[in-house]
Amino acid sequence: MIIIAIDGPAAAGKGTLARRLAGALKLPYLDTGLLYRATAKRVLEAGGDPADALAATGAAMSLRDSDTARTDLRDAATSRAASQVASIPAVRDALLAYQRAYGDANGAVLDGRDIGTVIFPHADVKLFVTASVEARAKRRQAEFAARGETTSLAKVIADVAARDEADRGRAAAPLIPAEDAILIDTTSMNADEAFAHALAIVTRKIQP
Ligand code: C5P
Repeated sequence: MIIIAIDGPAAAGKGTLARRLAGALKLPYLDTGLLYRATAKRVLEAGGDPADALAATGAAMSLRDSDTARTDLRDAATSRAASQVASIPAVRDALLAYQRAYGDANGAVLDGRDIGTVIFPHADVKLFVTASVEARAKRRQAEFAARGETTSLAKVIADVAARDEADRGRAAAPLIPAEDAILIDTTSMNADEAFAHALAIVTRKIQP
């Protein structure tokens, strides 16, 4: 059973990288950010406050596949609310078993913030993918533009930086590289270069 943990800050290209690695290695892929985004969306749509532990935990505990399959989970308000619900320990506890069961079933590539530190501390490979905040914000802005949403770079930088600070500063499962994580800085890499670099690392680790 192979587990590959990919952690890192917002918009670092983890998702693209994780999906491509999963394809190359024929492993299932889980975007764990979607669990927090879907939880946040449920709270927002019920008119609740994402900082309200009871409301957020209730939403996390009753999450269904149809919630995470939604295609409207990537806007700025949901991103912010996801980071808020993610700071609540009971929300993280409610989502933990699902993530472990997903990986334990057939192995997996999982991306998030705490995969290598909390969810799968014994993962076969742990990558910590990062890039400068400007590079990450530019990529996120391009994603928004591709969806027809125009946002200023300054606003995207502020949003990404605020979310990083919240994710790094929280007490519950803060964003931090696992001691045995391999750092990949993609500031000056395109998606193909990042993938080739990561695949070489993973192959070396799992087929010594
Ligand atoms: O990865 P993504 O940007 O979709 O994650 C949205 C938010 O969910 C993050 O800012 C973070 O607060 C939270 N998250 C987390 N742990 C994970 C994945 C995401 O706390 N494993």
